[in-house]
Amino acid sequence: MSGGDNLDFEIRPNPAPVSDADRAAMLANPGFGRIFTDHMVTVRYADGKGWYEPRVEARAPIPMDPASAVLHYAQEIFEGLKAYTTPDGGVAMFRPDANAKRFGLSAQRMAMPALPEEIFLKSLHEIIAIDRKWIPEGEDGSLYLRPFAYASEVFLGVRPAMEYLYLVIASPVGPYFSGGVKPVSVWVTPDYTRAAPGGTGAAKCGGNYAAGLSAQAEAIEHGCDQVVYLDAVERKYVDELGGMNVFLVLDDGTLVTPPLTGTILPGITRDSVIKLAERAGRRVEERAISLEEWREGAASGRVREAFACGTAAVITPIGVIRSLDGDFTIADGGPGEVTMGLRKELVDIQRGRAADPFHWVH
Ligand code: PMP
Repeated sequence: MSGGDNLDFEIRPNPAPVSDADRAAMLANPGFGRIFTDHMVTVRYADGKGWYEPRVEARAPIPMDPASAVLHYAQEIFEGLKAYTTPDGGVAMFRPDANAKRFGLSAQRMAMPALPEEIFLKSLHEIIAIDRKWIPEGEDGSLYLRPFAYASEVFLGVRPAMEYLYLVIASPVGPYFSGGVKPVSVWVTPDYTRAAPGGTGAAKCGGNYAAGLSAQAEAIEHGCDQVVYLDAVERKYVDELGGMNVFLVLDDGTLVTPPLTGTILPGITRDSVIKLAERAGRRVEERAISLEEWREGAASGRVREAFACGTAAVITPIGVIRSLDGDFTIADGGPGEVTMGLRKELVDIQRGRAADPFHWVH
């Protein structure tokens, strides 16, 4: 990292922001990821120069040379987190420092220069400050923040690029569950794996998601919401879902979740669930879970509940599991008590309605 990194953002307000009336209409039904705020953050990087020209500017297309390295070799990473209004009229983010750290680890895996965590955090504060009016009011809406970085160097050689662009864009989103929390159904893909040992499973890089699209399409063909990936070596143990981590709740109240061995994304929600559960005196095991254990446990009653967790849906019950070897249902397929209790606990902390014992809310 060069010593020249510049933390002072130049603010260039959008000269033609969306009108108040148009924004209000857009916020009435924002959906997910289709509407965007008036601004974006950009920070450049060049070898020998470090990170420079941090800017808040009008959101606009970015000119890109057809030989930009990212278009050919996919050197790209991203993050996702939410900002929302709190009951006292403030704006909060949940554990943005954890996203900053994970962004650094993703960068390391993709041979990209680490963005200093202070710049990452400052960039989030800057876009929230300038686009605050875009945060939906009320209980469930939030402003989804998408920091990302890519290799912008114009060069076709296969090696780590020497120039990068970091950006943050922001998108108002509505409640993830319109009409209450519904259990998701999941499809155990027999055809695809997500990440092998030594691969990029623990990094949040675009390529992981491109590689998962066929599996997700397969899940949808089988009438399921999400795909379950098994480990790439034995095809026996549950890794994670396409965009969420997995937990089981056993009949003695123990939580079980696959360990962080490098093939799954270290979810910030996953980590928060573990910390909250342990603080409440609940046993948490981070260990391999075979699909057979899941299936047999569902049949015997040993596995009482299963849930998926991630930033978008927080904590979502898993109802039905479909696979080539047959389908099975967890308990009666409805939301479990422990799952919904953890969900409420976490959402109350995030929304500023409950004490924040770990100082997660910024
Ligand atoms: N696994 C994958 C593959 C994901 O894309 C996500 C969403 N970022 C998660 C797990 C959950 O991570 P987090 O709780 O940090 O959102």
